Amino acid sequence: MDRPTAQESLAPAPINTSLTRRQFLCRSTGICATAAVWAAGARIPVSLAASPAEGPDQIGVLVDLTRCIGCRACVRACDAQNHLPHSEPPKTVWQGSAETLSFNRWTMVNLEGEASGGRPVPVKQQCLHCLDPACVSVCPVGAMRRLPSGAVVYRADRCIGCRYCMLACPFGIPKFEWSASTAPTIGKCQFCAQQAVFSGPACAAACPTGTLKFGSRPQLLFEAKARVHSRPDRYVGHIYGEHEAGGTAWMYLSGTPFDQLGFAKVPERSLPSFTRMALEIIPWIVTVLAVVLSAASYCIPGRKQAAEKMP
Ligand code: SF4
Ligand code: SF4
Ligand code: SF4
Repeated sequence: MDRPTAQESLAPAPINTSLTRRQFLCRSTGICATAAVWAAGARIPVSLAASPAEGPDQIGVLVDLTRCIGCRACVRACDAQNHLPHSEPPKTVWQGSAETLSFNRWTMVNLEGEASGGRPVPVKQQCLHCLDPACVSVCPVGAMRRLPSGAVVYRADRCIGCRYCMLACPFGIPKFEWSASTAPTIGKCQFCAQQAVFSGPACAAACPTGTLKFGSRPQLLFEAKARVHSRPDRYVGHIYGEHEAGGTAWMYLSGTPFDQLGFAKVPERSLPSFTRMALEIIPWIVTVLAVVLSAASYCIPGRKQAAEKMP
């Protein structure tokens, strides 16, 4: 083979502007992937990236546990309002029967606190109607939905029985109808939102002691802070639900620390916000990868070109 002359060695190599089919496919795939991911990312903010803001119309209930006498009138009112069938009428908490939430038991009042050596306290339990509900964010068919008022409601006609809402709820509220062999559904408090004319939850209306106060969440929060401030001897300095899981529509006041009453310790940040964060960085990761791979395909010669250059 002839050796190149010194002049030929110093001359710049001719630029090959033609693309092989392989290079064309690599580069166009990178560009298309980048465009597709950015297009998908642009749609994310509508449903996932924006956390629902709390407006003045956001409804809520303030539960003052220091006022509860454990009569369970709220439980009976919930059964009647929602036509929930039960074989036995619920008793008061002092008669010693404890019941947990179930598919057709959307609220319950049980005595809590004895296990930790404290004074027993009647505690009402139901869905807390999170401001940024995890059950809604994981439901693949929109069977769990947060209404503009703030009520988180369940639609049985959409449910496919996947039970993701049960796994996602940080408070363990949704319950599955295990006994049903066909079309089992989820049961949970609906905030009485299905009433034709909504005038507040039936349980709050039935409470004889003012333990349950229905109203606008911002106003209830203001009132809760005022109660805690004016009676530090009566209340622990914590409003459960103000920040838990990103904030909830149902908020609690208590004279006993909440961890002694079996209240779940949950992060202040809502669980869906972690998912949103992951979704927001995915377009960046894929874009960087696409750019790096496209640049590599420009710089690294294709197999055909390399073979042509071989002696
Ligand atoms: S408490 Fe659970 S079921 Fe109720 S809205 Fe929050 S995540 Fe959903
Ligand atoms: S708000 Fe309505 S559905 Fe929820 S616990 Fe009270 S009565 Fe039952
Ligand atoms: S009706 Fe009121 S006082 Fe009676 S158990 Fe329910 S929350 Fe407590």
